[in-house]
Amino acid sequence: MKSYDVIIIGGATSGAYLARKVAKCGHSVKVIEKSSREQVGTKMDIFHITRSDFDKFDIPRVYEGDTEWAFEFTENHFSSPSNKYHVYADAETVGLHMHEYVLLMNRLAEEAGAEIEYEAAFEEFIFSGGVIAGIRYSTKDGISEIGGKVVVDCSGVASAARRELPNGYGVENFEIGPEDLFFVILRYARFKEEQMNTFWLNMKSWYAPFSPKGTDKIIGSGASGSYEKAQKEADKLDSVSSQGDFELVKTEKGVTPYRRPPYSLVADNFIAAGDAACLTKPECGEGVTSSMVMLDIAADVLDSALKQGKTDKQALWKINTVYNRVQGADFALVRAFLTKLINAATDKEMEYCFKNGIVFNEKFLNNGDVSPKDVITTIANTIGGISHKYISLKTIGAVASGVKLALELRTHYLNYPKTPEGLARWALISDRLWKKVGKVK
Ligand SMILES: Cc1cc2nc3c(=O)[nH]c(=O)nc-3n(C[C@H](O)[C@H](O)[C@H](O)COP(=O)(O)OP(=O)(O)OC[C@H]3O[C@@H](n4cnc5c(N)ncnc54)[C@H](O)[C@@H]3O)c2cc1C
Repeated sequence: MKSYDVIIIGGATSGAYLARKVAKCGHSVKVIEKSSREQVGTKMDIFHITRSDFDKFDIPRVYEGDTEWAFEFTENHFSSPSNKYHVYADAETVGLHMHEYVLLMNRLAEEAGAEIEYEAAFEEFIFSGGVIAGIRYSTKDGISEIGGKVVVDCSGVASAARRELPNGYGVENFEIGPEDLFFVILRYARFKEEQMNTFWLNMKSWYAPFSPKGTDKIIGSGASGSYEKAQKEADKLDSVSSQGDFELVKTEKGVTPYRRPPYSLVADNFIAAGDAACLTKPECGEGVTSSMVMLDIAADVLDSALKQGKTDKQALWKINTVYNRVQGADFALVRAFLTKLINAATDKEMEYCFKNGIVFNEKFLNNGDVSPKDVITTIANTIGGISHKYISLKTIGAVASGVKLALELRTHYLNYPKTPEGLARWALISDRLWKKVGKVK
């Protein structure tokens, strides 16, 4: 049986990024990808990356004329529920074609030495002495077996490998079910008039470009639970915005995780990453670069673990502690707060805030130096100071309890156990806190 240092399941944005990094360190890497090379990364046409992320993650910057490049924009607007009041927000963003970008990342991974096998789907783990020692996967020629010191699940929402872990192996094997998913409908619309890039928080909907033309906009609408609920948001948006005054070019649908990640991202010879580990940004469900934050940490820890010849849970644990310090704690804070806020605030209350520049004002929304903790505390103080005539006591109560929970969760995640032995106790407290947060309705 052929053996590799690292086997990666899934060769899209997360898998290809990690494969390149680990192969660059001189380790042998095998990626198995379920789709064909022609189909990989076709789950949607367009995705966004913040301009500064190219340098931050050492991703090649692409420009107009490159096949991966779709458009760039620098401004966005937050809109009140009625579409009457708008607040400008900076947005230094590059739109990329997903398939072309994934192919680029696949080529870079191969150039670094990684092997990628397409039309190869993970089936099951091979265990030796009770720990993961390789995988079986299916191709059109049948079942193949390969050995691996570490298996990394980058298979997206399917979580193909993580879900096959035996109970108690060290990483939770939950399915990312409908209540944990944000369902998104994207309508590629050609308007007669130019449209602003706009985000409606109350309808979880937005207008964003799909080409450099100001008349070409993706109308995105999302909801937790089902596409039917997302369609209701789309209908509500049409009633206050476009009234359907556009030519529909095409429609896409997709899901993105909206739940906390597994409490541990690592087990003996195993790592969960990307959407398979629910590492999406809590404020928008985007996950390409937020996953890279974790993958950078994983690549460093993997490199030293492989060099020391020890890849058990203890050796990989630092991925958990560093990740939670640099991103996990802030994501827990924002997820908890937004869940409470979105479930509580009414359209009327939000309209009042927009009209009076409460929270939704340029100064507040464009202050990139403010930490998520400061943002949330300021929102609570601001809303708490408003007359109950405009913001109900119920909403003020929900916002206050959201802030309290969010801060508690952040502190709890910053105190993530330094060794695996502390996880069971830490997880019990986490369960209690997340139960109080609930799910987005
Ligand atoms: C509508 C929509 C818009 C979005 N827009 C953005 C955006 O603008 N910016 C952003 O950052 N994020 C965006 N996201 C989120 C982003 O798409 C994901 O967070 C990101 O693609 C996750 O990458 P991944 O590699 O972890 O998973 P995926 O992209 O889902 O890739 C998983 C790969 O694993 C393969 N696979 C699955 N099962 C198996 C198996 N059994 N064996 C082998 N391979 C397997 C799949 O074929 C796939 O290629 C959006 C999501 C949606 C739904």
